[in-house]
Amino acid sequence: METRTKHTYRTELSEFAKDVLVECPNCQRQALVNTNGETVYKAEKIKVRVVCGHCGYSKDVERIWVRNKQFILGEAIDPFFHLPLWLRIEVGGNLLWAYNYEHLSFIEAHIAAKLRERNGFEHHKTRSVGARLPRWMTAAKRREEMLRAIEKLRSKTL
Ligand SMILES: [Zn+2]
Repeated sequence: METRTKHTYRTELSEFAKDVLVECPNCQRQALVNTNGETVYKAEKIKVRVVCGHCGYSKDVERIWVRNKQFILGEAIDPFFHLPLWLRIEVGGNLLWAYNYEHLSFIEAHIAAKLRERNGFEHHKTRSVGARLPRWMTAAKRREEMLRAIEKLRSKTL
């Protein structure tokens, strides 16, 4: 059951692993791994580039490279260059991370839904969405802390 949940979240992760926000290796500010809006399933056909708008750093990754094992999904790094994600924060000993703001909002919506469910609202809606996130993210005692952390990430200085 646990494996199944992980697999489902992984599938979902791949849908968000596009235009990933990372920490620039040169100036440590926010940089973009530009996949031209493509998801990882199609990544072998595209050219991926990391670009920093602050210091001008840029680097390409060629399609052949993308195909091989160096492609990493499901960790707090971008799948292509393995740079640390911009949106990452420690919450209760676990690392909460998101590929971009869209992904962050997705996580937030799920946790908020769980919180409403606890308070007796929206039972019908939460049934389908809640199971996708790792257990530690949706654990009852952590939910409000998680939402605060997400808000903090969203307002992180670029
Ligand atoms: Zn930079």
